Amino acid sequence: MTGRIIKGIAGFYYVAVEGSGIYECKAKGLFRLLGIKPLVGDIVDIEITHEADREANIVKIHDRTNELYRPAAANIDQMILVTALAEPDPNLRVTDRFLIQMKRQGIKVVLIFNKLDLADAKEAEEFRKIYTDAGYDTLLVSARDPACIEAVKERLSGKTSAFTGPSGVGKSTIVNAIAPDACMATGEISRKLHKGRHTTRHTELFVVSEGTYICDTPGFTSFIPEDMEKEDLRFCFDEFLPYEGKCRFNGCVHENEPECAVKEAVEEGELSRVRYESYLSFLRELKEREKNRY
Ligand code: GDP
Ligand code: ZN
Repeated sequence: MTGRIIKGIAGFYYVAVEGSGIYECKAKGLFRLLGIKPLVGDIVDIEITHEADREANIVKIHDRTNELYRPAAANIDQMILVTALAEPDPNLRVTDRFLIQMKRQGIKVVLIFNKLDLADAKEAEEFRKIYTDAGYDTLLVSARDPACIEAVKERLSGKTSAFTGPSGVGKSTIVNAIAPDACMATGEISRKLHKGRHTTRHTELFVVSEGTYICDTPGFTSFIPEDMEKEDLRFCFDEFLPYEGKCRFNGCVHENEPECAVKEAVEEGELSRVRYESYLSFLRELKEREKNRY
């Protein structure tokens, strides 16, 4: 039987098999020997050891399309980055920080701007435009509007999506509206464990419909990946790419160098100034970090 790991707790993996429900699985010692750790999102073959108790062994992990470290999950098709348009007010720097992180992981992003009902419509459009101009797929929504939830659902259809973003922006509200029975799987697992609620939160996959999954990630703050150099940062801003190689200096980081095509484009209004300022602030942060390394 083939299924998908939807959750991992203390050496147990919960595998959802379409049409058959959830099995509590252990990974064969073979994987430990090979140094492979099953991940939430993995597609696995299982062998049932006890049908009545719904216990099984994971005997094979299928090849992964990708492997993310934040969240720790495999086979995620896209990240849904949620930002609130109000309460809390949108913060470009926070959004950009998440975007850099995801760019580094090489994963497609859909930007959801939520709480449209609390925002000024014109300001909301302006904020959105910064990101559509930067090449992102964006959506303005209010989690309380069923039509908006339908639009989000369409984006998720047939894919495995992970929701991320700062706390308070409405991630849980959106996820609950999309998959009201998402907690069903959780209940089933706690019954299986014969234990109370777990205090630590784990990455978890919810089945929305056949082939459509949502990855609920424990809250985390955005950060700039440890292995990132200041020379890498400009490649995380897609809108800068058409100007790459057009600056006077090779390897121009678009800061203080003369005859910089990116700076000129900002002056001409071809590139967003706020995004460029966001870039500069991260560049400074990376320089500071590099200085402190030695
Ligand atoms: P999370 O921390 O990102 O999961 O955010 P929550 O889903 O817990 O939402 C935080 C608060 O914002 C809750 O009180 C929600 O009811 C509220 N909220 C979420 N989405 C919307 C929205 O579109 N409009 C309004 N007015 N409130 C919302
Ligand atoms: Zn430049």
